Amino acid sequence: MNLARQIEQYLPQQLLELVKDISGQAAERGEKVYLVGGIVRDLLLGYPNFDLDLVVEGDAVKLAQQVAETSQARLLAHRRFGTAKLRYEKFTLDLATARKETYARPGALPAVTPGAIKDDLIRRDFSINAMAVSLASNDYGELVDPHRGKSDLEHRLIRILHPGSFSDDATRILRGVCYEQRFGFEFEAQTARLLKRDITMLDTISGDRIRHELEHIFEENRPELVIKRLDELGVLQRINPSLKGDSWIAEKFDRARHLKKPAQLPSLYFCLLIYSFSERDIERFLARLNIPAKLSRAMRDTLRLKARLPLLDKSSLKPSEIYYLLREYELLAIQANAIASDEKEGTPSLIVHHHLQLFLTKLRYVRTSLDGEELKRLGISAGPEMGKVLRILHKAKLDGEVRTRADEKNLALSLKARDFPTDPEPPWE
Ligand code: ATP
Repeated sequence: MNLARQIEQYLPQQLLELVKDISGQAAERGEKVYLVGGIVRDLLLGYPNFDLDLVVEGDAVKLAQQVAETSQARLLAHRRFGTAKLRYEKFTLDLATARKETYARPGALPAVTPGAIKDDLIRRDFSINAMAVSLASNDYGELVDPHRGKSDLEHRLIRILHPGSFSDDATRILRGVCYEQRFGFEFEAQTARLLKRDITMLDTISGDRIRHELEHIFEENRPELVIKRLDELGVLQRINPSLKGDSWIAEKFDRARHLKKPAQLPSLYFCLLIYSFSERDIERFLARLNIPAKLSRAMRDTLRLKARLPLLDKSSLKPSEIYYLLREYELLAIQANAIASDEKEGTPSLIVHHHLQLFLTKLRYVRTSLDGEELKRLGISAGPEMGKVLRILHKAKLDGEVRTRADEKNLALSLKARDFPTDPEPPWE
């Protein structure tokens, strides 16, 4: 089988020229370059994918260095792993030295030595990802498919390459379910059996690697399908017993995608995923997945705010009260709670939802028109006095008591003479 036609058809011209140039330079060095992994699968499926992985039978780092010297590309090399990234203005190419791998123990990172393309393909996760296409001029476009990947694609099957695959690396369980749901494929019968048998092997995987796979899942168009399936298979529960992939998650993930300005969507999914957690659950989850500090803060804030939502359930709240109640929380946590609270008419948390929305769409953007410099010109001295005036102006603006610059000036001047008898902060501050 030759994929030259698909390569020419699906890859943008500029990208095509880059890989041909790299392959040409490799040939001069007596080396050979292949397209591998997801791009080959997607070329066969006819799906767009500009995320190119190249494997070099030779020395990928030296080749990449040479290419970088003769082009505009920026080079990022990992000599220890035999990998390099070439960053061009519009594209990024990943190059890896063809390698052989052996696993000392389940879940460990494999020991790696240089090898040929077939050695490189046998260490891969599934047959549909274990194909390569030659870029060399003498057999350009030739498919290398030692594990019947093309046939599995045609039969819509996800198949591991050997029975020890999931126990060698249980992240493949998460990856497999991701492909199953993305493409609407099925697990081949023995693969399905071994997947269920090896779910416990997830315990051998580091938090960073599990988190990385969840992030990968959260890049999917509909990650809720993957999460639901992971729940059905008992995979989620192995990661944390309180994780669920039910219809609530499905509905909220869908809503998150339709938010006008979502913060980082994958992080928002994380906040929704733990929405039903107790304090103990969340700490266990954060530790198990080694979640970075900023996201941990947002996830903890999500639950902290959830516990305080009843404070927002009063239609008489002034905008400034809503603002002061919410401003201490991470934006992601407020978005997660806005999504989680009900927006249907007649439901108990509708008011809460409206207040969260009001903060997200309006209140957080409200600024006074006057700044410190202008206040100084009005005779207000820098320091605590100015701080108070600015807070009072901001509060008045939030509550619609001042609208124009002139209103603000008048208010500021009236405050100048006074001794600030009232505290602008609401009672819970
Ligand atoms: P996607 O479309 O999801 O990005 P991809 O196939 O490009 O698919 P990557 O995560 O970028 O996925 O991985 C690139 C390739 O590396 C895969 O196609 C697969 O061959 C291989 N690979 C990735 N992770 C593993 C793993 N845990 N075990 C074995 N092979 C893997």
